Amino acid sequence: MIVVLLGPPGAGKGTQGERIAAALGVPKIATGDVLRAAVKDGTTLGLEAKGFMDRGDLVPDAVILGIMKEALALPAQANGVILDGVVRTVPQAEGLARVTQELGRKVDVVLVFDIAGELLVERLSGRTTCDKEQKPFTGFERGGPCPNNCGGVLVRRQDDEPDAILHRLRVYEAQTAPVLAWYVAHGANVAHIDATGSFADVTVRALATVGR
Ligand code: ADP
Repeated sequence: MIVVLLGPPGAGKGTQGERIAAALGVPKIATGDVLRAAVKDGTTLGLEAKGFMDRGDLVPDAVILGIMKEALALPAQANGVILDGVVRTVPQAEGLARVTQELGRKVDVVLVFDIAGELLVERLSGRTTCDKEQKPFTGFERGGPCPNNCGGVLVRRQDDEPDAILHRLRVYEAQTAPVLAWYVAHGANVAHIDATGSFADVTVRALATVGR
């Protein structure tokens, strides 16, 4: 089963994506994670992406399409995959449709996380990230140790600074919201869930959309 997660930054796609992936026994691919790892390792991909990411802009479609193609060719995702933040522009949705068709597959569910803008700013500005594992945490002080005791320190991601958050939300409205209209127009199986409330409540709603 190929599931596309769609929703603004801070909607909880990462957390819920992990849970859906675990329930279905398939991997999750997050382009944000792939790009951050590339930045950390200083690869060509990372050097190309860093400026866009720090400002809260989208990296060019061609870069994402390359990552998408590579990810979908991995044997690990033969039974399905959860795509978290992988599709953020209409050309990317078209690209994914082409790639899946070439592989004789299709997107089975487009799962949309519905949530109000004010809540997103609150969530993202309160979020910290482990500087070693790059994992996000909520409810922990900046500068403190990673709650997983990995030896890392909790920092604020460059694109979780207030100005960058507002910019990302505008980018979402301008470039990613039209992706939903594209999927609807192309007859995709689109499911909306209320992304407010506890992590556990949202997980129940999310799993129901994939038949779990
Ligand atoms: P969020 O969804 O919270 O904005 P992510 O961690 O998923 O954050 O992604 C971080 C950044 O990586 C994005 O702001 C963007 O610069 C880049 N990125 C990730 N996925 C894509 C994509 N599909 N298209 C363009 N840029 C992307």
